[in-house]
Amino acid sequence: MVTRRDVLKSVAVGTAAFALSQLPGMGCGPGEVEEKVEEVEKPHEVEVEKPHEVEVEKPHEVEKVEKVYLPQEAMARLRKGNQRYVSMNRLSDPGVGPKARAPLTKGQWPYTTILCCSDSRVPPELIFDEGLGCLFIVRVAGNILTPPLLGSIEYASMHSTSRLIMVMGHESCGAVGAAVHVAEHPGTKETPGIDNIVNCLMPAVLKARKETGYHGKELVEAAARENVRMVVKQIADESQPLRKMQDRGELKIVGGYYSLTTGMVDIWV
Ligand SMILES: [Zn+2]
Repeated sequence: MVTRRDVLKSVAVGTAAFALSQLPGMGCGPGEVEEKVEEVEKPHEVEVEKPHEVEVEKPHEVEKVEKVYLPQEAMARLRKGNQRYVSMNRLSDPGVGPKARAPLTKGQWPYTTILCCSDSRVPPELIFDEGLGCLFIVRVAGNILTPPLLGSIEYASMHSTSRLIMVMGHESCGAVGAAVHVAEHPGTKETPGIDNIVNCLMPAVLKARKETGYHGKELVEAAARENVRMVVKQIADESQPLRKMQDRGELKIVGGYYSLTTGMVDIWV
């Protein structure tokens, strides 16, 4: 039987986190607290036998050596999780119980940031079959970008461990539908809050309409995809630190589109 310790011994330190992710039921905590119960209850033995894991007590060092996924590793993990979700082959425990919670009291080590819609049909942890501490989620209707949302995204990559940012739109998005409605019925008003979201989505609606000539439902789908492309670009344009990380190859910002029908997420770089 392969244990977490075996995995840690068998891989280079820098890739330990990714290797751990390949084991079923493993979350994104620092690691050793998810070991067998008796080992957790004898902390001094853990210190002697696995000296580098003592660094769990020092969150900054742990972040450096154990919890940074390369962008392509993060993308592969997301794809695998989505495949499990689509095929209804989900993990029996993706890391949501007390054993997963315990190490996360020391910090968080998310491997991906997802900017997605608030829509109740698009819950990222379920869609990617993930547990606690793995995904840094920024949710807002229409997955638009505003300064506080950009700040949230920056935090996860600059002060935490996310090296992949995915903007994820979805089929039949009501927010995009509202923006299409306003484009086709000028003068339509909602609340100031909803109007603000519509205004943020309008450039994507107008661009999609101009390029495709679509209207109605077809335009909603085209505009939702266009909005993802625009927000991906907007993140890099508006955040110099993230753009620099991307230019150095340390970070990737990608787009994704979730199908309500199939459950599949189409990820494009
Ligand atoms: Zn939506």
